Amino acid sequence: MSKNIPITIAKGDGIGPEIMQATLKILEAAEAPLAYQEIEIGEKVYCRGETTGIGESAWDSLRSTKIFLKAPITTPQGGGVKSLNVTIRKKLGLFANVRPCVSYYPFIFTKHPDMNLVIVRENEEGLYGGIEHQQTDEVTQCLRIITRPGCERICRYAFEYATQNNRKKVTCFTKDNIMKLTDGMFHEAFDKVAKDFPEIEKEHWIIDIGTALVADTPEKFDVIVMANLYGDIVSDVAAQITGSVGLCGSSNIGQDCSMFEAIHGSAPTIANKNVANPSGLLLGAIMMLVHIEQVEVAAKIHNAWLKTIEDGIHTSDIFTENQSKQEVSTEQFTKAVIERLGDGPAKLTPVIYETGKLAPSTIYSRPEKLTYERVLKGVDVFFYASPDALQLLVQQAQAHAGNEFVLKAITNRGVQVWPNGLPETFCSDHWRCRFKATKGTSLSIRSIVNLLGRLAEGELEIIKTENLYYFDDKPKYSLA
Ligand code: NAD
Repeated sequence: MSKNIPITIAKGDGIGPEIMQATLKILEAAEAPLAYQEIEIGEKVYCRGETTGIGESAWDSLRSTKIFLKAPITTPQGGGVKSLNVTIRKKLGLFANVRPCVSYYPFIFTKHPDMNLVIVRENEEGLYGGIEHQQTDEVTQCLRIITRPGCERICRYAFEYATQNNRKKVTCFTKDNIMKLTDGMFHEAFDKVAKDFPEIEKEHWIIDIGTALVADTPEKFDVIVMANLYGDIVSDVAAQITGSVGLCGSSNIGQDCSMFEAIHGSAPTIANKNVANPSGLLLGAIMMLVHIEQVEVAAKIHNAWLKTIEDGIHTSDIFTENQSKQEVSTEQFTKAVIERLGDGPAKLTPVIYETGKLAPSTIYSRPEKLTYERVLKGVDVFFYASPDALQLLVQQAQAHAGNEFVLKAITNRGVQVWPNGLPETFCSDHWRCRFKATKGTSLSIRSIVNLLGRLAEGELEIIKTENLYYFDDKPKYSLA
């Protein structure tokens, strides 16, 4: 037999240890040629005072095996440490999160018998950048960074994935009617990359109606690509409507390293009860085996799992009187899959995996860097001032504008309140004054620094600034 392939595993939190134990038992029974290096991450590590939730030696293991099978971990909500999941994905450059959501009708109850879609989620950027600040008593802000190379790479990955997996259509979800620059860039990248794949159908939906369609008629979708937060939300919806969020695995793919997991979280409310469905992590492990080209054992496990599902042996999350034959614990389900190794489904389509389907290197190469003529035309200066301070702002901003700048507008929460404001508009203590170059010409950073110096002499507290640039003669900032 060939040498065992080293992989890193982490048992995680909540139901993590139970479903990892189930998955490892099945991998071992199927004789998957793997050598496991276990690392500790998550709650226990946080509690020891390692605020990142992961120690240095764990990074060494991940960077040496380059393959990570990870059970879900608990992330504190609201406050506390950063999400370790997000840190791992970003630090290891795992830019593509692939989440297949498939229904198994009539064996698992679902309203969507013909559902078989794959969500390709951008995994490093957007609102998961983790760049948040409280700026005033009343206002917090999350910075959403979207990059052109990031958009092009994930869109190319989605089209390559579709090509390699005989999928016919790639759909893009954005909200570029509202977020014209950030989601606009994603949509633009999608259209650009689509031209290289003329044999694949392409379509675009605004995310709100797109998500409604996924919830209503998921069979109309094939591969769907979208930005980070959208993909996280839509894939939970898609997984749940297959029958249970516990049914879907996921891969996180990077140039050097990859991570495989369930799409669900650590479900602490059902932890240590021997009831969790291990299928999500098991299907993640199967994606891992395919990724490392262990396709025979991947198919052997997948077909045994399909047979178990078909035989009506179901954990409580998918158990229904009509569809199921036996409600089983995590351990009983695991035993049932092991008993069926070598067997396959009679009615559901058996799985065949092929080798040689590694992602082409074009996905990983940095897209050509475009450069534009960039001209500084003004600056937005944000102030902390009382919600009724509009007149003071107008007076101070005009008094300190100087010769090079003119005050064009004042906004509050993105709504123009001066000139031509309405008394109905609700104002917070977070104000933006838009200063433009008096003569419409280009400005220097020095001019802005001087403006800030003058404003700092006044009565208002500056919180931050954003420069206003034209790229190739087009304004690239949101209008007031
Ligand atoms: P969750 O996905 O953990 O659980 C939501 C509900 O879904 C559970 O209460 C349970 O009823 C059901 N469920 C989930 N997995 C199941 C399974 N395998 N079998 C049966 N039922 C299952 O979502 P949550 O409660 O919002 O999050 C719990 C914790 O997990 C949070 O700390 C969150 O940050 C974390 N989380 C981690 C990951 C990850 O590690 N990749 C992903 C998502 C959430």
